[in-house]
Amino acid sequence: MFKQIKISDPLIGPEEISAVGRVLRSGILARGEEIRKFEESFANYVDTEHAIATSNGTTALHAALLANDIGKGDEVITPSFSFIASANSVLYTGAKPVFADVRYEDFNISPEEIENKITKNTKAVVVVHLYGQPCDMKPIMKICESHNIKLIEDACQAHGAAYNDKKVGSFGTGCFSFYATKNMTTGEGGMITTNDKKIADNARMIINHGSIKAYENNEVGFNFRMTEMQAAIGTVQLSKLEKNNEIRIKNAEMFNHLLRNIEGIELPKTMPCRKHVFHQYTIKAINVIREKIVAELTKNGIGCGIYYPKPIHKQDLYIKLGYRDSLPISEKLSQEVLSLPVHPRLTEEDIERIDSCIKTTI
Ligand SMILES: *Cc1c(COP(=O)(O)O)cnc(C)c1O
Repeated sequence: MFKQIKISDPLIGPEEISAVGRVLRSGILARGEEIRKFEESFANYVDTEHAIATSNGTTALHAALLANDIGKGDEVITPSFSFIASANSVLYTGAKPVFADVRYEDFNISPEEIENKITKNTKAVVVVHLYGQPCDMKPIMKICESHNIKLIEDACQAHGAAYNDKKVGSFGTGCFSFYATKNMTTGEGGMITTNDKKIADNARMIINHGSIKAYENNEVGFNFRMTEMQAAIGTVQLSKLEKNNEIRIKNAEMFNHLLRNIEGIELPKTMPCRKHVFHQYTIKAINVIREKIVAELTKNGIGCGIYYPKPIHKQDLYIKLGYRDSLPISEKLSQEVLSLPVHPRLTEEDIERIDSCIKTTI
């Protein structure tokens, strides 16, 4: 029997296990020093003044939007080619997601499209650094500044990614996820990053029942808090992130070399000025070729993934809400993308096996 290769495989070592044991034995399981320590080291890593730990990436997005005063009557521009949470978090606030198409080359929101979708009601943009590659931040920052639009970054797939050496999550209000499949994990978990004290204070209040002082409630908030066990795992995972991202990049380079010049397959490009941390290694192939590759990989015990087979504006939920957008690039990409395993647990032999499986289908 051949070895199974998973599309993602969390890398947990004895340090994480002993950190959780230490917290459990301490008897302080919530709202303690571990959270404070994790927030401080995460802010330090992303290079922001503030970081606020949350229960997951979706609650980070939800709280980040509320902390930026987004709500009913506001429009928020966001890509349709993303995980559903990017747009749904806008719905939670009562605001309206407005979809912008992405660029074919890097799968990320197109700055020109953002500009086309701006109306007098546009209050914010939620950009998504998809698959671990930063969006084209220079023109995006310029658009946000000139139209006085708030910037929220869905960096849930891009821990450690950078644009011109500046880390994602430090351009606007950053939102991270530590779900089990991400570049670093706490099982479930999230983080908000910002340099704006007011947004940080708002976010802290929103994730804790609208309360700053115990039992004094200023507004309706939520319980979006992280636990001490998650924070302890997070601190260890963060210390390994750079090393693990480098392994992902090296794995991606190996695929780039092995899979070069195959007719019908387009390899992912790292755009200029970007540090791509390869949350996913995503190739493009027209649907018939993609289906053949998926079948062959599956037959050989190799996991792969289509992220995402249906753009958000085509989901039943959004059809019911009246969305009738035509976003040709998002729609085309959902027919073509295929993500191969690229995580740090892969061996060179695994990568060679994936490569030869793909080549037998051509
Ligand atoms: C994972 C992810 C989220 C949501 O994070 P959760 O921790 O699963 O709630 C949001 N946006 C994107 C792009 C993601 O990949």
